[in-house]
Amino acid sequence: MIYKRSSDLFAAAKKVIPGGVNSPVRAFNAVGGEPLFIREAKGAYLYDEDGNRYIDYINSWGPLILGHAYEPVVNAVVEKAKKGTSFGTPTEIETQIAELAVSMVPNIDKIRFVNSGTEACMSAVRLARGFKNREKIIKFSGCYHGHSDSFLIQAGSGAVTFGSPNSPGVTQGTAKDTLLANYNDLESVENLLNANKGEIACIILEPIAGNMGCIPPKKGFLEGLRELCNEHEVLLIFDEVMTGFRLAKGGAQELTGVDADIVCFGKVIGGGLPVGAFAARHEIMDYLAPTGPVYQAGTLSGNPLAMAAGLAMLTELNRSAEIYSSLHDKTVYLHKGIEKVLSGNNIPHTINRKGSMISVHFSDEPVVDFASAARANNDTFKVFFHGMLENGIYIAPSAFETWFLTDALTYEDLDATIAAVEKVSKSL
Ligand code: PMP
Repeated sequence: MIYKRSSDLFAAAKKVIPGGVNSPVRAFNAVGGEPLFIREAKGAYLYDEDGNRYIDYINSWGPLILGHAYEPVVNAVVEKAKKGTSFGTPTEIETQIAELAVSMVPNIDKIRFVNSGTEACMSAVRLARGFKNREKIIKFSGCYHGHSDSFLIQAGSGAVTFGSPNSPGVTQGTAKDTLLANYNDLESVENLLNANKGEIACIILEPIAGNMGCIPPKKGFLEGLRELCNEHEVLLIFDEVMTGFRLAKGGAQELTGVDADIVCFGKVIGGGLPVGAFAARHEIMDYLAPTGPVYQAGTLSGNPLAMAAGLAMLTELNRSAEIYSSLHDKTVYLHKGIEKVLSGNNIPHTINRKGSMISVHFSDEPVVDFASAARANNDTFKVFFHGMLENGIYIAPSAFETWFLTDALTYEDLDATIAAVEKVSKSL
């Protein structure tokens, strides 16, 4: 493929934007080479500035569960924009999307909208700390909750890729209140709770991890966390920025049957516009300003265009139960296809999948936590990534990311993807 125009645009971008990108993982540092500049997208396909077409497994890192330029979402945004783009006042549509979200997700009575997943998680933790009047939190190595200070401690996603899971600029004062446990390891959590009795406000985690590649919880892990939280009177926060409205209408809570105290959203809830949200039962949410003492605010929070996109998206997802079974079936099909090819070519691998999240770890051991994810062969991943790209398949440019399927994918697209894996396998 020819990437000339992308390359020229990247050179121009680097002069005025740090690294040429507004979010680090886009820059391809983890895999080498230069990023594609995308001109437009429709359904399951991306078109770059050189006119190359790709089957897209990133989908804007998760939001576009029904495909790019999905008409009901686009139409809702266009119609809304004609009436003004922001008022900084309450609008009816905020209540409409809030009612719908609360009706779809278990255990939440009220929801507050923000502009990103980062804001959602940051605000949720502040609320938990204020509500419990405790300062410490527990997070898991390899889980990513956005780039706010408390979370850049052994974070996943781009933070690992760039060799800065603990970012400079985060003060020691902040870092000391974030305690680290190992994913899928209840004992590590119990030890922290016992050593810090009465001091932990909340445990935050991705109920199905997606930022160290996809790592589902082991049987009993989430249930065990719920029990520990009850026992120690600690709030359990599910960061469902990736999983919310993606794995089921009610997200991971519905899928696993485990109840969270606070739930964070992003990605799908905004239909591709900048939206995040956090939600909980009345007594917790009413602890927020203006009813309660914990402050949280936003000039563009609940923005009409963003709410229109989100409402259109959630309405579509709420209308049809088949979307989730269709996505599940497609992901299983892809899983089986890739599995067969990699096994047939004797390439050590572990494929993890939950719902429409899937990732290929080039490792011959189970990948259950950050340490095992980090032991996978990154050199193989790099060759795999570039081979797939050259064959028109766009997967995330890092092994510490998940692929997100969209329902716009056809079985022909999946077959083309499996055929590309077959071709690329020969060079691994
Ligand atoms: N939490 C999780 C689980 C995420 O995957 C992400 C982003 N990938 C975030 C939080 C942060 O969201 P945002 O990039 O919208 O700030």
